[in-house]
Amino acid sequence: MGGFEVYRAVADADRAWAVAETESPFTIEVRFLGGLSDAQRDAFAAAADRWAGMIVGDLPDARVGDEMVDDVRIEASGIEIDGPSAVLGRAGPTVLRSASAGPAAGLPVTGIMEFDSADLAEMEQAGTLHDVITHEMGHVLGLGTLWSRKGLLRGAGTADPVFTGAGALAEYRTLRPGATGAGVPVENAGGQGTRDGHWRESVFGDELMTGFVGESGNPLSRMSVASFGDLGYQVDPDAAEAYALPAPGAARRHKLERHTLLRTITPGQPTVLAD
Ligand SMILES: [Zn+2]
Repeated sequence: MGGFEVYRAVADADRAWAVAETESPFTIEVRFLGGLSDAQRDAFAAAADRWAGMIVGDLPDARVGDEMVDDVRIEASGIEIDGPSAVLGRAGPTVLRSASAGPAAGLPVTGIMEFDSADLAEMEQAGTLHDVITHEMGHVLGLGTLWSRKGLLRGAGTADPVFTGAGALAEYRTLRPGATGAGVPVENAGGQGTRDGHWRESVFGDELMTGFVGESGNPLSRMSVASFGDLGYQVDPDAAEAYALPAPGAARRHKLERHTLLRTITPGQPTVLAD
């Protein structure tokens, strides 16, 4: 062992017990493989803490190579890609739990977050680094990246894709009483990597998991948290951040397009562990 720094974000023990009756709270291990400033490593650590506040239950340990992983291990690095803008990098799950893992079947064991150093420096300057790193870590954990695999995405490629998970849908109907759709509106515009993999920007505005991150201060709603419950995690919706739908016609905050001007590439199809 050695050669890299590690940050471990661990869910609160009391909440993990209350929500999931586990004495092994959900843990995200971030391995820093290099190329990141102190402030950038801090942003990864803060993002992992933010997610471990909302996803709290243990997942079955999984063996990758000669190491046991409890619960998710993310390899983070800064590299040179193409300078400011254009390609931000790669973020997504790389190894998924086996079909025998019960409710955790198909949930990530490992993931990668590998970003262009020039873009990280710009985001640090602009004050968006924390939200963008948190957003990308959400993809590693499965938001948008595992929906189709889990059978929870309907209408991909059409004008009206929706996420059909029951928990997220209930939260959406609380946000918008009277909503009649069969699911939560999913992004129907933008390029590959944006559409079908985020909440719909035109509906959800500043929610962190739309395809476009605005200025800092983008909340993670109960709907996002519940969507991880739909994927098979044990979550604490009460840990979500205050969020309301934007008022109709409300002025939009300036938006940084991330997946078009700043493209993130899903790192290929993840490997599913054998039983
Ligand atoms: Zn995204």
